[in-house]
Amino acid sequence: MIQTVRGTRDILPGDMPLWHRVEDVAREAFRRYGFHEIRTPIFEKTELFARGVGEATDIVHKEMYTFVDRARADSEGESLTLRPENTASVVRAYIQHKIFADKSPGELTKLYYIGPMFRRERPQAGRYRQFYQIGVEVMGSSDDPAIEAEVIEMLDWFLKELKITNTTLLINSVGEPASRAAYLETLREAIRPKLDQLCADCHHRFETNALRVFDCKVESCQAIVKDLPVITDSLDEASRAHFEQFKAHLDARGIAYTINPRMVRGLDYYTRTAFEIIGHDGLGAQNTVVGGGRYDGLSETLGGPPTKGFGFAFGLDRMVMSLPDGEVEGLRAADAPDVFIVFLGEAARQHSFNLARDLRQAGVAVAIEFEDRKMKKAMAAAAKAKARYALIIGDNEVATGKYGLKNLQTGEQESLSLEEIISKLN
Ligand code: AMP
Repeated sequence: MIQTVRGTRDILPGDMPLWHRVEDVAREAFRRYGFHEIRTPIFEKTELFARGVGEATDIVHKEMYTFVDRARADSEGESLTLRPENTASVVRAYIQHKIFADKSPGELTKLYYIGPMFRRERPQAGRYRQFYQIGVEVMGSSDDPAIEAEVIEMLDWFLKELKITNTTLLINSVGEPASRAAYLETLREAIRPKLDQLCADCHHRFETNALRVFDCKVESCQAIVKDLPVITDSLDEASRAHFEQFKAHLDARGIAYTINPRMVRGLDYYTRTAFEIIGHDGLGAQNTVVGGGRYDGLSETLGGPPTKGFGFAFGLDRMVMSLPDGEVEGLRAADAPDVFIVFLGEAARQHSFNLARDLRQAGVAVAIEFEDRKMKKAMAAAAKAKARYALIIGDNEVATGKYGLKNLQTGEQESLSLEEIISKLN
């Protein structure tokens, strides 16, 4: 028996209504806030992520699915990678298609994406090697912190619409690249005398990207990490002012937040504002639902024009897991057929095919099974399908053109014509 690859999974039909609900509400949020969809390829040149996400990040360093494409006779095979995230690809597309070219000064490019990402992480609940993200990118000449607050306001609406409450917005500023470099030195100096008390992973982090020690989950490391100097104490003046304005914009919108000066995100491109939204209900250790931030300069890194950028991605898998139980039941029920046709005898069976077609053309979701069965069995099948109504058709109904429409919840039954059924169900 061939099964799914470790860390990947099938999303089965029973769960799809939940995925669709999250996607639909996201698309509605994007429509209201003026975002347009973009789809980029699932694989790109490895160099895009190496340069965009950063060589020293865990993602590029050890989590990418990279392969050498088959060589042509006249050249070496090219190194390609399944995308571990979508921001680098969107910025690449922004540059490649000169999306900025027909914008008037100050006009923003607002894009969103939905799709699978691939990271070779250790699988556990809420963490997969193929997972799904929905994200947005705002690009242009402006780095106004009001843009950040508006994007977070959109997320706030989205979560409320999905009835996902009890989340926490964590914010931080990681400063400009120059002030971050100075802070990294301070941080390394503070870690050095305690290095022998840190885990092997933290030793590696110390060498490659000391900021990452803040992500360490090992208890003995956390005890040390909590006393290390934080980035917010070393911010450059412009980043500090930007952060203050960002907070004021959130306050003005009545959006609650917690400042977490130890929150550093796993991607190198972030500048200034970084944020996460943490979920609470049943997510376990993998409880970060949304992650995002500002990435001024990423375009330049990828060979594009000077561009400011801000965006986020949320994990669709984790968002679906965060839906409250009460919502989940209702969403599953809404996926059931409106009508289950129960026919008795060959003439009724033939008649049912046309009736099913007419109902479907009128917008009704119809279930029909093809086997002729006894009434009791057919009604059991209608109940199993969780249909709202059973439409009962025998010789008599074929002759009169009046059908038995039984409400499977209340047990009430009426005798109605096709037109009456259609107007009742719509
Ligand atoms: P990141 O791109 O690392 O900022 O992640 C953004 C969001 O994507 C996270 O908050 C998660 O919700 C989701 N995510 C990231 N990695 C995984 C994974 N391996 N499995 C499931 N969801 C993930």
